[in-house]
Amino acid sequence: MSKDIKYLVLENYIGGKFVPCSKLIDSFNPSTGTVYCKIPDSGPEEVDAAVRAAKEAFPDWSAKSPEARSKVLNKLADLIEARLEEFAQAESKDQGKAITFARNVDIPRAAHNFRFFASSVLHHTSDCSQMDHMGCLNYTIRCPVGVAGLISPWNLPLYLLTWKIAPAVAAGNTVVAKPSEMTSVTAWMMCQLLEEAGFPPGVVNIVFGTGPRAGDALVSHPDVPLISFTGGTATARLITERSAPYCKKLSLELGGKNPAIIFADADMEQCISTTVRSSFSNQGEICLCTSRIFVERSIYPEFLTRFVEAARRWKTGAPTDPSNDNGALISKEHLQKVKGYVALALKEGAQVHCGEGVDKLTLPEQNAGGYFMLPTIISGVKDSSALMQEEIFGPVTCVTPFDEEEEVISRANGVRYGLSATVWSRDVGRVHRVARKLEAGLVWTNCWLVRDLNLPFGGMKSSGIGREGGVDSYHFFTEVKSITIKH
Ligand code: NAD
Repeated sequence: MSKDIKYLVLENYIGGKFVPCSKLIDSFNPSTGTVYCKIPDSGPEEVDAAVRAAKEAFPDWSAKSPEARSKVLNKLADLIEARLEEFAQAESKDQGKAITFARNVDIPRAAHNFRFFASSVLHHTSDCSQMDHMGCLNYTIRCPVGVAGLISPWNLPLYLLTWKIAPAVAAGNTVVAKPSEMTSVTAWMMCQLLEEAGFPPGVVNIVFGTGPRAGDALVSHPDVPLISFTGGTATARLITERSAPYCKKLSLELGGKNPAIIFADADMEQCISTTVRSSFSNQGEICLCTSRIFVERSIYPEFLTRFVEAARRWKTGAPTDPSNDNGALISKEHLQKVKGYVALALKEGAQVHCGEGVDKLTLPEQNAGGYFMLPTIISGVKDSSALMQEEIFGPVTCVTPFDEEEEVISRANGVRYGLSATVWSRDVGRVHRVARKLEAGLVWTNCWLVRDLNLPFGGMKSSGIGREGGVDSYHFFTEVKSITIKH
């Protein structure tokens, strides 16, 4: 690298001010493989400063009416929307995702998160006993918890960070947030809008840095009573251990190994186009992506042929080209890990139908060093294989036939994860029966990723603890208090 190259240098946002950090780390553009920005390598000192600022801001912010807080959140949503294109370009460059996806999904949803929680916080009610119990009136109130620690991953950077910040501050908490060290730019851009939106200093603080340093300092800070974490199951285990001595309130949104179950009576056309999307959107880097596809044996050959044809039409290339569906994977290491699963499949005797090692990926010259991979479909894999058990988190999906309803439910449930599942059938009774028996926090039937933010979101088993969304976020980000008045 030439010494003349000027990088974007990010600063922490603490107490309403941008604060430079003495140590910086490189952040890469995944579609070129080059460093393009430097982010703070924050540690306990920076995190402590942010927690102090958040603690100081808490009494005033929590005392404001929900209406006053709601106004600020709505204003921030307006400001993000007004800069949608700027944010989308930055997200695409930072994460590697296709610009069209950032424009249509990431940034609109980030703005919507603020708008949604600005509204929902106005409609919560609490309980009051109707009965005179031993001469007493009983009722409940909900109070914000204090300083919320929020940690988010790299796959949907601003989308998932705002999914935490919005409900936390709407409910009256102040926050210290740490985005993924691999995708910090849009969070930093959002900090530039907070004052104009009307957030008093210290209500939203963002520290940038790695998990083991900045993330760990936040999790183990004694003045942060609540942690909302989205990321990998292994990291969640560490977070649980580190927060145990303080009995912190935890919400853990983790990985998945999501099945799609396709019955012979499914609307094939709709099922194939949706299953391509559910398997490969955002390079397969969505926790809800389908990675095991069970197809009823009578339609298996037809499904596989048409599914492969449709996957080949899913375009991978420069994220800046709006005609591309997929861009680059997040990092060189991650690309190698994902490709490693394809190599393992071949070693185990499976068939790779398209994508990695089968089709040729042509890229523009400036993207030659990027971390790209084509949508890859594999069959002939045993349920016990790592390909069917581990979260791959890339554009790889496995297809397998099944014969009976009970058999497929048991196979779909035969993993340690339980985040989401998709069921395809036009038989209403079956759809209800299967959905009830699947071990998953979310079951979509004849669709995928249709999200009503009022619904509880989260997983069971190793996919997480707790639910967020609508009233569940409100409950998580508040403490309930039972009050008894003797009259
Ligand atoms: P990750 O667990 O490596 O990192 C997530 C965040 O945790 C990052 O900000 C990271 O810096 C931080 N972190 C890492 N080590 C830490 C530590 N010791 N203490 C505190 N913080 C720490 O996950 P990732 O690779 O960024 O994201 C991919 C994972 O996230 C996948 O498993 C995916 O399924 C999951 N995910 C889940 C959901 C969901 O809603 N269930 C959504 C998106 C992604």
